[in-house]
Amino acid sequence: MQYQSYSLKNINKIENLKKLPIDIKESIQTVGSVLPFKSNNYVVEELIDWDNFEDDPIFTLTFPRKEMLDPIDYIRVKSCFGQNELRNLVTDIRTKLNPNPADQIEKNIPMLNGEIINGIQHKYSETMLVFPSKGQQCHAFCTFCFRWSQFSGVKEEKFALKNSEHMVAYLREHPEITDVLITGGDPMIMRASSLRVFIDAILESGIKTVKTIRIGTKTLTFWPYRYLTDSDSSEILDLFKRVTDAGYHLSIMAHICHKNEMKTDAFKDAVKAIRNTGAIIRTQSPVMKHINDYSENWSEMWKEQVRLGMIPYYMFIARNTGSHRYFSIPLLRAYEIFKNAYMKVSGVARTVRGPSMSASPGKIVIDGIIDIGNEKAISLSFIQGRNSEWVKQPFLAQYDEKAVWFDELKPAFDESKFFFQR
Ligand SMILES: *Cc1c(COP(=O)(O)O)cnc(C)c1O
Repeated sequence: MQYQSYSLKNINKIENLKKLPIDIKESIQTVGSVLPFKSNNYVVEELIDWDNFEDDPIFTLTFPRKEMLDPIDYIRVKSCFGQNELRNLVTDIRTKLNPNPADQIEKNIPMLNGEIINGIQHKYSETMLVFPSKGQQCHAFCTFCFRWSQFSGVKEEKFALKNSEHMVAYLREHPEITDVLITGGDPMIMRASSLRVFIDAILESGIKTVKTIRIGTKTLTFWPYRYLTDSDSSEILDLFKRVTDAGYHLSIMAHICHKNEMKTDAFKDAVKAIRNTGAIIRTQSPVMKHINDYSENWSEMWKEQVRLGMIPYYMFIARNTGSHRYFSIPLLRAYEIFKNAYMKVSGVARTVRGPSMSASPGKIVIDGIIDIGNEKAISLSFIQGRNSEWVKQPFLAQYDEKAVWFDELKPAFDESKFFFQR
């Protein structure tokens, strides 16, 4: 399949959209001017069920919908169309939507020789995140994506690493880093020749402390032809093979939200092609209202992923950014979905962890609800912490059926602070 990209500029080329009611098209234009929109011919033609588009999870993942904006903001944007004020209004609304959650700008950016390195995040001691500047796009933008500030042109809020020298210099100074996670955007939007620059820099650096290279990507389900028929597909696969031949663990972190993303032959062929290079594929996704907030989706996905040789890794809670109002579900509902799905899979799929919140102090997982005498509490723990001492220390929050994010939870038993805040 030949790649065809769609954005607001050429959205009229999407034949299937033409048949949709006018108000749907209007809301795509309106919301799409605040939250970035992009799609491609594979997603549109192979994944979306256009006969049931209103309830179709892939349609909702791809096309902005009216309800994603605050109703008042929606009307303001719509009435500003074609006018000079639109720009400022859009900037205002985007700023309100918490473009960089979990203090990632203030707290995760590392220094090298007294200077900030833009394009690297180092939050957990073993793992460094790298954001190559050419990888700050995607083959399609998921409407829930917490990376939207990377795409919406707010320069000072964008992570982008131009060359690999700073990355290598930082790795030399930080031997505790075992994992380099190349992320974005989506690094697999890059040409093989650009991706290779970052990977070769690690392979040729002689740094022995790095053992694992991870690549976070949505391509496996949203553009599987990246590994099949693109002009540099074989270069990509050769590069993967070179990494594993050199003795590194290469893990492709595939973002898969819904089981419908896994039904095509192209997807299955891409999985095979990647596995043949010696790379391992791990899977992750947030749980979101209107898309995947039911347990069968997860148990079916995890089982099929294991069957195809992938390792279920994380179920996340949708981040408190962008259209959180549209996607969020109560934390306890997320827990229930996770538990009901986990119950239905055998041990080989129970490698998955969650539901997990990537909050400012760390990855906090909801472990369950406990009853102590006549009081109920939510049991939580860190699976990754800004301070690694916090990991695996259980702690309790007041029972709360409504809370949708960590900052809404309060410590149990009238404590004023959680243990890691003291
Ligand atoms: C999730 C995450 C990682 C990776 O954590 P692992 O426990 O190694 O999977 C690294 N950095 C940040 C900022 C993260 O949110």
